[in-house]
Order: sequence, then C-alpha cells, then structure tokens
Amino acid sequence: MDNGMMRKFEKAKMYAEERDRIQFDSFQVSFAGRNNPHDVSFENGKWQCDCDYFIGRGRCSHTMALEIILHDMLPETITEST
Ligand SMILES: [Zn+2]
Repeated sequence: MDNGMMRKFEKAKMYAEERDRIQFDSFQVSFAGRNNPHDVSFENGKWQCDCDYFIGRGRCSHTMALEIILHDMLPETITEST
C-alpha cells in the first residue's frame, strides 16, 4: 500500500469503530436457517422474511438476528419496536 492508501486504511479502521455513522437504507440477504434458507430483506424501515413465523408475527429469529448484528446501523424505530 502507498502512503495515501495507508492513511485511508487508518481512517477506515476508525470509521469501522463508529458504527452509528452508517445507516442501512435497504439490503437483502440469504439467511441459512436451521431448517431452511430464508430470504430476508429490509427496505424503507420494514423487514420482510419468507418464514412462516414472520408471516404471522412481523418479526422472527432471522430479522432479530440481523437487528443484533447491525445494532446502531438501523433506524431507532426498528430496533426498539416489539
Ligand atoms: Zn424469518
């Protein structure tokens, strides 16, 4: 790495410690559930999962796992809702 890239890398490491700088607006993931794979997405503040539990409750182990992983990087209303 040249000096310029080294400085960017140092800055990147600092940014990576400041998770609240990053807010996810939308994303889609393939979640390897214990029984089946699931398509989980997040768009405009709303979760979507194709598992049966989510359809009935609007929240499931897959979306909650992502909430834990992405803490500080999702809008507050999402992480605090029940
Ligand atoms: Zn689910």
